[in-house]
This record gives sequence, structure tokens and C-alpha cells, in this order.
Amino acid sequence: MSKSLRKAGGLVIYRKVFNEIQYLLLQASYENHHWTPPKGHLEENESDMDAAVRETEEEAGLKLQDLCVDHHFKKTLKYEPANKNFIKQVVYFLAYLTNPETPVKLSNEHQSYKWLSLQNAKEHAQYPEMQELLDECDKHLKL
Ligand code: AMP
Repeated sequence: MSKSLRKAGGLVIYRKVFNEIQYLLLQASYENHHWTPPKGHLEENESDMDAAVRETEEEAGLKLQDLCVDHHFKKTLKYEPANKNFIKQVVYFLAYLTNPETPVKLSNEHQSYKWLSLQNAKEHAQYPEMQELLDECDKHLKL
């Protein structure tokens, strides 16, 4: 039987501290405790962007008014989680946290968060697709 597709939206959030770009990664409190940007499943009739913004507020406590969304960046990740009967598609957008001091407030879906340089973020993000996404964000920001 073919696997169903589960759609999600997410935001790669970055801030600047002393001119260094830092990316926000959250550590899942489930399964293998992997690190990703805030993201989550689309609710009925919700767009990728709406889901990304809603999930960012739910998972990290960052509201749309705290962020400046870059409308020139969009990247879709597709993967098959191990031992699951679905394929997951996450559309990621890029957003700048205007006040770098804005506090991150986690929900119980995550156990930790970190602001990381590109290199450190790629080391935390174990999946190659996520590492590529971070590279593409960084390239986009340096264009
Ligand atoms: P998530 O989509 O981040 O909620 O993770 C759901 C499951 O998929 C977890 O077991 C993750 O470890 C796994 N997962 C997350 N990202 C990837 C990926 N890029 N490739 C394969 N599995 C992944």
C-alpha cells in the first residue's frame, strides 16, 4: 500500500548577534530527540505559511509581529520517518527575529532550544535534508 502524505509548515528563524547569524533549533521531547526549526502539521484549510506561523508561536512562543518573514525564500523537505506509514512534507520559510533578546518559550513538544551558528546548527541537525536547508538559508542571506 502506498504511503499517505502528511503536510507541515515551518519557519527557519535566525537572529543577528554581533553580526553573527544564529539559527533557532528546537530539540524534540519525543522519539530520537532530534533538532529542527519550529514546524507542524497543517490544519484543515490552512496554508503552509499559516501553519508555519501558528506552530512557531505554539512551539517557540515567537509571534508574527516579532518576526520579519522573507518572502523570497521557500524550500520543501520530503522525508519518510522510520517505522511510520506516511511521507512527511514540510515547507519551510525563512524569518528574521528583529529583537534578538526576544525570549523563546517552549511547549511540552520540545525539551530544549539553542541559537546556533551555521556550522553548529548543521552538527545538531542530523538529517542531510535539514543540513542542506540550513546551507541554503545561509547562502540566501549572504547573497
Ligand atoms: P518530525 O517530522 O520532526 O516531527 O519527526 C518525525 C520523525 O521523523 C522523527 O522520528 C524524526 O526523527 C524523523 N525525521 C525528522 N526529519 C527527518 C528527515 N529529514 N529524514 C528522515 N527522518 C526524519
